[in-house]
Amino acid sequence: MRRKMAAGNWKMNGLSAQLIELDSLGASHTAATSDIVICPPTTLIAPAVGRTENSPISIGGQDCHSAIKGAHTGDISAPMLADAGAAYVITGHSERRQDHHEGNDAIRAKTQSAWAAGLTAILCVGESKDQRDAAETLNVIAEQLAGSAPDDATADNLVIAYEPIWAIGTGLVPTPEQIGEVHNFIRATLKDRYGDQIASGVRLLYGGSVNAGNAATIFTIPNVDGALVGGASLKAVDFSQIISALEQSAT
Ligand code: PEP
Repeated sequence: MRRKMAAGNWKMNGLSAQLIELDSLGASHTAATSDIVICPPTTLIAPAVGRTENSPISIGGQDCHSAIKGAHTGDISAPMLADAGAAYVITGHSERRQDHHEGNDAIRAKTQSAWAAGLTAILCVGESKDQRDAAETLNVIAEQLAGSAPDDATADNLVIAYEPIWAIGTGLVPTPEQIGEVHNFIRATLKDRYGDQIASGVRLLYGGSVNAGNAATIFTIPNVDGALVGGASLKAVDFSQIISALEQSAT
């Protein structure tokens, strides 16, 4: 049985005052039955770790460099994230793929580096609107998985987030059938590559305009083990409802 996961990606949002949201989120889920992860901006990672010491929330980074150290101005390495107390890191988010021209090779190297530092990678894949309209979705997902997931995956070090680019921050959400098709395909692809045991333990998250209103429906879809949430993770009151819907779907 896979433990459900709700991960929040705060993106480039949040000054110190935002940390108060972690207090109320943690207090609302003291008896959490799912993994709750918040990925704040890098400046907030260390204080967020301190603030969630006695709470069910784990902290993650939003990106890491593939090297462990060196002349890479402005970047952060996976060991630095781990040293700050992070347990997770997002790799391959479409905003990184687009804004920073990250390709599958770079994302695979980042993911490998995350694993070497003991972090669990939340590896994102997803198609653009044009690719979906051209019926290319499954090919795109297959290519991204093959290229950006390293060989030595385990059920603990890898989480896959299916995030259609056209659904991120737009209020558009694929139909349950569309989400189900991609998640089943990802599960089958992982089985071919890593074998039954590993593939059946890897959590598959859906991401893209998840909110308190649509979460319960999304969590009924087979092979959806949770969500990666952007906008609706910024306020504890919103994210908390998503976590509750997730935990209810597991009962
Ligand atoms: C994201 O960027 O990972 C995301 C899912 O954003 P949103 O929930 O705001 O669509």
